[in-house]
Amino acid sequence: MIGLVGGMSWYSTMDYYRTINAAVQERLGGHASAPLTLQSLDFAQVRAMQLAGDWEAAGALLADAARRCQDAGAETVLICTNLMHRVADVVEAAIDVPLLRVTDAVADAALARGVERLGLLGTRWTMEEDFYVGRLRARGLDVLVPDAAARVELDRIVFDELTRGVVDASSAAACRRMVERLEAAGAGAVVLGCTEIQLLLGPDDARTPVLDSMAVHAAAAARFCLDGAALPA
Ligand code: GLU
Repeated sequence: MIGLVGGMSWYSTMDYYRTINAAVQERLGGHASAPLTLQSLDFAQVRAMQLAGDWEAAGALLADAARRCQDAGAETVLICTNLMHRVADVVEAAIDVPLLRVTDAVADAALARGVERLGLLGTRWTMEEDFYVGRLRARGLDVLVPDAAARVELDRIVFDELTRGVVDASSAAACRRMVERLEAAGAGAVVLGCTEIQLLLGPDDARTPVLDSMAVHAAAAARFCLDGAALPA
């Protein structure tokens, strides 16, 4: 059984649910689907903690949710957002089952494709702080991020639009320009390092491979379910 700590936002949690189940059904056929337990948090509460910089409270909130997944029988837990991996260590310490980290799923996907330099799109904290980029670098990957103005714009797109269910064509165009600049700077693949950016950009929006964090993370969960281990694809 897989445990999902989701609701951050619920738009991308729906895609995790769909993607994991689709992968299990594709492999096993018939009516097969993934045994899952979901703790869907109130994103308004999480967002208030982010804005207040109260990562301690956020860590406790997510750790409690992960423990509830474990108590329900989950044999692995996923935090269904990139940004909230900022508190991944606290969550990991709170449970006895493995935390399947999005950063590991992204790194596995990049290394499996032979990519060495990644362009990263995500929220500001994800692009600017070490909890995310540092883990990719620790796997030997080089990481490029957009310039400061683009980072602010992308953060606005995530929180004012995508996590509220708004998909805007001019924002998609702005993101495509960011992708072009990252590729021009030498990125060999583009990481959609926010689980909602896949609502705005797809594989056709880049010349290089697009690594969608939601998709690779959900695929790792499906492999855990099917093979008992989140082995790289
Ligand atoms: N889902 C987003 C992410 O993957 C951001 C929402 C959040 O967790 O604050 O980073």
